[in-house]
Amino acid sequence: MKRTTPTAFDFFPQEESQQTRVSRFFEELRAGRLSTTRCRKDGALLWPPRVACPRCHGEDLEWVELPLTGRLYAFSAVLVGAPLGMEQDLPITVGLADLEGAPLRLFGRIVGAGWERLSVGQRVRVEPFAVPDERVFYRFRVDGGLAENSSA
Ligand SMILES: [Zn+2]
Repeated sequence: MKRTTPTAFDFFPQEESQQTRVSRFFEELRAGRLSTTRCRKDGALLWPPRVACPRCHGEDLEWVELPLTGRLYAFSAVLVGAPLGMEQDLPITVGLADLEGAPLRLFGRIVGAGWERLSVGQRVRVEPFAVPDERVFYRFRVDGGLAENSSA
């Protein structure tokens, strides 16, 4: 994999199986699916995906697919002080969304409408998007409203 971003400034996790035991999350995401791990012993649904259960410390986890729709729980906009490399993306809208059908609240960037057009409870879709260096991550997309100035 060709790397263009210095790792020290890279706030996305390393994704390959040589680097992490949760590489399957990224493989699934690349295929358009959101997934995480669940503890087989006590049933705890874990987010983000983990290699050990924080409740029982067991490592007998299974992968489960998560829904791709959710409702906004809260949101905010970053108007100044963007992280390195994201200065051109301002304003950046971020938020928390409760997945529909799974007891998880995820944090992520919101695209598809500016923060002025968002409301709590609004429906969002989880979608994968390409990150530089051939990697992938997820974000939330809302339908309608004005497009954000960044299509990233
Ligand atoms: Zn457990």
